[in-house]
Amino acid sequence: MTNDQHPDTLAATALGWIDRETDAMAAPLRPSTSFLRDPAHLDRTGRKFTRDDNPSYLQAEALINALEGGAGCLLFSSGMAAITAVFQRLMPGDHVILPVQVYSGLRDWLEHHGKRWGLEVSYLPDYTPATIEAAIIPGKTKIVWMETPSNPTWTVSDIAAIVNVAHKAEAIVGIDNTVSTPILTQPIRHGADLVLHSGSKYLNGHGDLIAGAAVVAPGREDLLADMKTQRNHYGAILGSFEAWLLLRGMRTLALRVRAQSASALKIAKFLENHPAVVEVLYPGLPSHAGHDIALRQMAGGFGGMLSFCVAGGETAAKAVAARVGVIRQAISFGSTETVIEHRAGMEGPDSPTPRDLLRISVGLENIDDLIGDLGQALEVVITQEEKRA
Ligand code: PLP
Repeated sequence: MTNDQHPDTLAATALGWIDRETDAMAAPLRPSTSFLRDPAHLDRTGRKFTRDDNPSYLQAEALINALEGGAGCLLFSSGMAAITAVFQRLMPGDHVILPVQVYSGLRDWLEHHGKRWGLEVSYLPDYTPATIEAAIIPGKTKIVWMETPSNPTWTVSDIAAIVNVAHKAEAIVGIDNTVSTPILTQPIRHGADLVLHSGSKYLNGHGDLIAGAAVVAPGREDLLADMKTQRNHYGAILGSFEAWLLLRGMRTLALRVRAQSASALKIAKFLENHPAVVEVLYPGLPSHAGHDIALRQMAGGFGGMLSFCVAGGETAAKAVAARVGVIRQAISFGSTETVIEHRAGMEGPDSPTPRDLLRISVGLENIDDLIGDLGQALEVVITQEEKRA
């Protein structure tokens, strides 16, 4: 293994693996569900059935693990499967702490299944070491969770400072690193115990598969073993072809994420000066509350996700999203094409997201095409304002 190489090299070469049998430089696809036993009924490879152990996962797991600086990685059938595997380890009465602004699927799961199982959940509007310390219930708080930057306001949290507070209370720190990717932030190097991914987003990068991954920090191999048993029991396993596609997508991860970050910064600056925009939420802007932490914690860019609030409120925001042309109105993120979304509308009536907010996932299109498209879409707000005047 070549963990001392630059992440760009690790990703581009997929750790330099060669198929031993054929010398093929691209990974083989291994769809077999069962593995041969010898006449003495022994499994020569240690494998019986792919729900326990799929050799198609090995290269993708090793690459994600190397990029994150972990002690081991597991692929799952989706980001949600990887994330819920962490929370399903908990016992009734255990307590978890999360920011209010967190991936809405996790909030939904905790509200429906987590609470039914007896988990106590605290959502904090302001996610700082001090507020987390105040929310910790000694002996009961088991997980301190965060995304950084966090969906959809891109709040940035200080990982090392939060780890410090959580570890004093013997709570695990789990970080959903889907948005930042290991190209920009490596949470384990800041002390996190666990890193989770929706591989459906930047890791794959082409909007054509659903996958998840969990990586544990050195010293937390116990978590990995437990989650592997769970993956087997609940059957949240990825298909062999999806694992193969994920590995192929990750070969261009570094290039994609840097290009998307550079374009996102240009779009954020354009929007910041636009009269139809009330606020731009992007950690790369000095005006963003998390900019200083992002400068320390992120390297090589601030990510491809940004949000902005439209003058005229929800109706105006929806009108802008309906007028884009090059950009498409769609859910999800991290693919090659740019998408825009009225996030509160997608999250439903209980959403804590501002109603005038639009979220953009920046793709790989020409930057002038993207800015031109946003400019023409925002004209609808200017026209409405003029009509009112
Ligand atoms: N984490 C974040 C930050 C997400 O945005 C999502 C999905 O949108 C998930 C996890 C869940 O991932 P998946 O859709 O692969 O289950």
